[in-house]
Amino acid sequence: MSGPERERSIAIVGFGKIARDQHVPSIEGEPGFRLAATVSPRGPGMDRVPNFKDEVELLRAVPDLDAVAVCTPPGARFAIARACLEAGKHVLLEKPPGATLGEPEELARLAEERGLTLFATWHAQHNHGVDAARRALEGERIRSMRISWREDVRKWHPGQAWIWEPGGFGVFDPGINALSIAAKLVPAPLFVRRAKLSVPGNKQQPISAELTLASPAIGEDVPVELDWRHSGGERWDIAIRTESGRELLLSEGGAKLAVDGEGRPGDANGEYASIYRCFAELIGRGEREVDLSPLRMVAEAFLLGEREMVEPFED
Ligand code: NAP
Repeated sequence: MSGPERERSIAIVGFGKIARDQHVPSIEGEPGFRLAATVSPRGPGMDRVPNFKDEVELLRAVPDLDAVAVCTPPGARFAIARACLEAGKHVLLEKPPGATLGEPEELARLAEERGLTLFATWHAQHNHGVDAARRALEGERIRSMRISWREDVRKWHPGQAWIWEPGGFGVFDPGINALSIAAKLVPAPLFVRRAKLSVPGNKQQPISAELTLASPAIGEDVPVELDWRHSGGERWDIAIRTESGRELLLSEGGAKLAVDGEGRPGDANGEYASIYRCFAELIGRGEREVDLSPLRMVAEAFLLGEREMVEPFED
């Protein structure tokens, strides 16, 4: 960043779990931003700033707003982000950046046309362990990678009906975090070769998935296991072996790294602070960051996926 940045006003649109847990404290901890408003169609928002029912009300009531963070479920993102870009606001998108590939592509085009920042965030990429893994892989070639992303959907998505609906991503809602880390670590495209999706008889989206990925930068195919039926503590692991025989284990969703069995210090709380620092810097430099490769891998899994119906699931 060149020189001190001025403080910019920002609103959060979509005031649910992630907005409350991470976006509010991270914005309040980032000197480049001041939280000016929230948008929550049904909820009261928070008491410190005004809350609006939708982005149209927000944009009318706070015309000097600089930026918007869109933290709704993915299906609502496109219309909100487009309206904000058209009103001249910089936009941060929670992951995934849209319900389709075309939506964020169009948003990126619009942002570029208007000279605005669009930041399609992948929070898992901002873990300290992921940066440490990238450094540990410098000068190495990856021989193999295994991804295992297992969690209890009842613990992490209580009452979130949208995750099971079309455009809700099912188990790919957390699984895309693993794919985003892999995309950051592998220095060439990763693509899906095979996919098997297990869909509960009473749902529209998979509760588990097995993928095989490939990349010209990895010696062997990459097995990926995503499962929402896991109890007894989440297991979010990526294991990597290099051609030179080094073994890396990224665990806790990318927060922790061990190299050849030796742990490196981790910090699970740095993801969103890093995201808002990057957003402020992108705005300062007049740049955009829109990497759609994790979303493309999910789309490929849905395109290629063999589907099996499994027993109905009650939340
Ligand atoms: P959530 O708790 O269900 O919250 C979503 C919020 O969006 C709700 O408050 C909902 O408001 C609001 N909303 C829906 N449509 C809207 C619209 N058109 N305009 C304004 N607000 C709207 O979901 P979440 O867990 O926060 O997840 C949101 C996004 O963050 C997802 O894409 C998810 O992948 C991502 N994310 C979640 C987590 C996590 O741990 N939960 C972590 C990282 C990323 P109403 O309730 O009033 O309808």
